[in-house]
Amino acid sequence: MLNYFTRQSALRILNFGSLFALLLPIALYAQQPQTITKKGYTLHFHAQNPDFDAVQQKRLQNVFFTNYPKLVKDFNKNSLKEVTITIDTAYDGVAYAHNGKIVIAQAWMEKMPEDIDVVTHEVMHIVQAYPPRSGSGWLVEGIADYVRYKYGVNNKAANWSLPELKDDHHYTKSYRISARFLDWIENNKKKGAVKQLDAAMREKTYTPEIWVNLTGMELDALWDAYVAANKA
Ligand SMILES: [Zn+2]
Repeated sequence: MLNYFTRQSALRILNFGSLFALLLPIALYAQQPQTITKKGYTLHFHAQNPDFDAVQQKRLQNVFFTNYPKLVKDFNKNSLKEVTITIDTAYDGVAYAHNGKIVIAQAWMEKMPEDIDVVTHEVMHIVQAYPPRSGSGWLVEGIADYVRYKYGVNNKAANWSLPELKDDHHYTKSYRISARFLDWIENNKKKGAVKQLDAAMREKTYTPEIWVNLTGMELDALWDAYVAANKA
């Protein structure tokens, strides 16, 4: 027979256990990644903070299912079929992608809620899947922003556009500055150049000669021609 102390302890454990049993499913529901599969693509979506805006979660998921399959089809059919997006409560950058995993800062999404095409940029990195030392960093980011420019679903509302050419620009400045240069090459020198540059980096056949093969000009000469054609 239990003495008083043991009975009280047992009771307390029982109460705690009941409470735990009651709360556990709620906690698990909120914190588990949602897994969504559509047309052969699986997205594991994990908001670390379960209170992260549900509508915003849905919008980010929609960008994924709108653009990832298109980019796989247009650039690299061997891309991963399964991707994870984490909305990170601690990350103080914007977003990054690595090995099928995308991390987006919750703080950024709250500050810039229309910037949902960070997903478009980051999924392009998964499609790129370049092996190490296969090309130039500026071109990797330039292509990802070129793709955002072409495929983005909400760039206008996000106030996101390619910047006008300025004196201090150079193709090595990466991101949108390089993207605008690539767009000019596509429109004025070689349609499909971005796809060929992308494929070459993935196949590790990218060399400086590729610019000559694609456009008849070396990269620096190409940049000079771009500047000359776009001077105000
Ligand atoms: Zn990037």
